[in-house]
Amino acid sequence: MTSIIPDLKTKEVWFLTGSQDLYGEETLRQVAEQSQAVAAELGAGLPVTLVWKPVLKGSDAIRRMALEVNAADNVIGVIAWMHTFSPAKMWIAGLDALRKPLLHLHTQANVELPWGDIDFDFMNLNQAAHGDREFGYIQARLGVARKTVVGHVSNPAVVSSVVTWSRAAAGWDAARGLKLARFGDNMRYVAVTEGDKTEAELRFGVQVNTWGVNELADAVHAASGADIDALVAVYEDEYDVVPELRRGGERHESLRYGAAIELGLRSFLEAGGFSAFTTSFEDLGALKQLPGLAVQRLMADGYGFGAEGDWKTAILVRVASVMGAGLPGGASLMEDYTYHLTPGEEKILGAHMLEVSPSLSSQKASLEIHPLGIGGKDDPVRLVFTADSGPAVVVALSDMRDRFRLVANVVENVPLDAPMPNLPVGRAVWKPAPDFATSAAAWLTAGAAHHTVMTTAVGVDVFRDWAEMARTELLVIDEETTLRDFQKEVRWNAAYYRLAQGL
Ligand code: MN
Repeated sequence: MTSIIPDLKTKEVWFLTGSQDLYGEETLRQVAEQSQAVAAELGAGLPVTLVWKPVLKGSDAIRRMALEVNAADNVIGVIAWMHTFSPAKMWIAGLDALRKPLLHLHTQANVELPWGDIDFDFMNLNQAAHGDREFGYIQARLGVARKTVVGHVSNPAVVSSVVTWSRAAAGWDAARGLKLARFGDNMRYVAVTEGDKTEAELRFGVQVNTWGVNELADAVHAASGADIDALVAVYEDEYDVVPELRRGGERHESLRYGAAIELGLRSFLEAGGFSAFTTSFEDLGALKQLPGLAVQRLMADGYGFGAEGDWKTAILVRVASVMGAGLPGGASLMEDYTYHLTPGEEKILGAHMLEVSPSLSSQKASLEIHPLGIGGKDDPVRLVFTADSGPAVVVALSDMRDRFRLVANVVENVPLDAPMPNLPVGRAVWKPAPDFATSAAAWLTAGAAHHTVMTTAVGVDVFRDWAEMARTELLVIDEETTLRDFQKEVRWNAAYYRLAQGL
């Protein structure tokens, strides 16, 4: 079906070069030439389109450039480099007006210092070493959220760092334009899936609104027989469909109903321009099955999803899908379910009732039907698979009353110790960094949610950059984490983020 993960090449990042009129035309011509060469070399390594802009030499042009960036929907951020010395008062109005992510690239045109040939003309042309320090000062003084990357663009580590930021900027762009549809409210009595939807719209740009589930049920029941036939044929092609669900099988009608759910959901989401949604097993109205297969396939196509009304995790799944565009792996709702506690071999089994994205697996999934113990509806159809082994990250978003908090854990998906023939759901088994006890204690200390996004496409650094763009707390649990330092960070952050709201 139709993926809604954008081609990142349709997104532009503008490359801005700072200078001033002082140097005369010949020097400024060289500045323009060299910055175009730097932009071309950098742009060749990025997943987004890097667009060089004429050299900026004064306050009015810089302010107008910022306004142009803000107004252009396909521009997701800017990279700024002071090739020469660009007196930073010129940047005050522009930086104050800029509303999109900023990366400060601290670089220079040449790699080697030309020891034998260097004269003062060369020094005059190549003075980013102090021009960028002037720029750093004004950014720090204005409190501008940004990423600083240092080094020559021929260094793969420099490009890699800009790639990470570009993917985060694409994720930020996805959040700023995100409309999220909730079908029903949160699971009754649950705390962590609640949150301030008005604050989320201001902070992340996400519009979160609710529709009665029977509006979805109407769309599901309006699906045509011909469309259902066509989609069932797709299922039979893409998955190992168990015989009872196949055409002619005794439970084929259940698969047809699963297809109708997918058709109804897609048409509802497309009509409203939604790229994320939630469901609630306690509020299914006229729907005969809990949406399982449909939700799994929509997540694989880039839709954000949260179960039990969890709109915050739905945002993360959508953002992670966009940040991982074009990369192997995927993003999915995940839930820590149960543990393997053999000392030294501890593992976490994650799954959900049904709703885990098959994008986590490169194997052909099995399409099956089984009873669901809760919800009181017909047996739902679902995809069964195990996530591929390899590095992954789980990220949760909690509403801490005065702010949002992101918590990320770097994990390693591992093979099952033994087959699990009696657990017919999509699942992942992982070892968390730095070790099980530290990870879980830190997670609980932070009050992080039991629902997460699991991504196998991008690493934790992309979330670091995204959190900076969102000016939102991010606590990372990785190989470096000790519980003692983590507890201190949580306490200090509580003070910092309360103060920062007034800054
Ligand atoms: Mn759940």
